[in-house]
Amino acid sequence: MAHFEFSAVRFCAGSPSDTGICGAKLDGKSFAFSGIAAAFQADARDCSVRRGWLNQVGTRRIMKTSLIMSKQEEVGDPQALPAQTEEQLRLDLAAAYRAAAMFGWDDMIGTHFTVRLPATEGQPEAFLINPFGLMFEEITASSLVKVDVEGNILSDNGYPVNKAGFVVHSAVHRARENAGCVLHLHGRFGVAVSALEDGLLPLNQTALIIRDKIGVHEYEGPAVSLGERERMAKALGAHDLMFLRNHGTMAVGATIAEAFQRMYQLERACEYQVYTLATGLPWHRPDEAVIADVRDNYGRRDKHAAQYARQLFWPAILRKLDRLCPEYRH
Ligand SMILES: [Zn+2]
Repeated sequence: MAHFEFSAVRFCAGSPSDTGICGAKLDGKSFAFSGIAAAFQADARDCSVRRGWLNQVGTRRIMKTSLIMSKQEEVGDPQALPAQTEEQLRLDLAAAYRAAAMFGWDDMIGTHFTVRLPATEGQPEAFLINPFGLMFEEITASSLVKVDVEGNILSDNGYPVNKAGFVVHSAVHRARENAGCVLHLHGRFGVAVSALEDGLLPLNQTALIIRDKIGVHEYEGPAVSLGERERMAKALGAHDLMFLRNHGTMAVGATIAEAFQRMYQLERACEYQVYTLATGLPWHRPDEAVIADVRDNYGRRDKHAAQYARQLFWPAILRKLDRLCPEYRH
């Protein structure tokens, strides 16, 4: 018996009816599994294994212990979301603005982050948006404004909102049930790459993970007509990230944590690219098979990615804000 301890192995059932045999990769080598694999559900197409035992029996290898498996979960499934109150969403959205300012992504009083509030029976669909006129670094939980889907203020806290800016967000919130949070930026690196003909290049690991998962919306001028809103939502499609050509970036997520973590990856990859190209030196393109492997096997919208964003990445951001500017909670 050989013992293998490893961090992650991907399973893929061949077909819904192929319950007895699964495939896995370990250190680049393919393995066929049967036996316990037969116990997998017919639709167990995507499972992860943290550690385990491989036991070779004749020509078959059987996975024996320590299986942690889960069906691929579409991030944003409302049934899978943690219950969130308006109070919690206010804290998280204020934190997102503060963190964006901390990373230098803000554009004075421009651009918006929005979040959909929990549905209340008999009440219109409601969202939180930044108070128009405040810089990101000034926003607090109580200063966020509650608006309806048209940007009309639902509970007046003394601050105005940029109604025209919100309609872009409402189009995305409406088009995607799993877009609980929509982030839009004019970050200097994101804007720079949005203007490049070839967009995000395969220059670094972060870019490799996300570059084929980004929608592109063509620039149509600063005015956002009804027709453009629809085209923007269509350009986003099923993606969670988007370049607005010659304009900026957008990220969506079921939660603020997931949207922010995706935006972090995009803005970071753009920053790496601008710095790399600024050297003016020839850049190295990774092997095409590696590019394809990273594209296909990382950055997935699954349960583990959502857990990473919600339970590790976002709490780290909050701890940093609590050290630097805890007043965002007011
Ligand atoms: Zn904009």
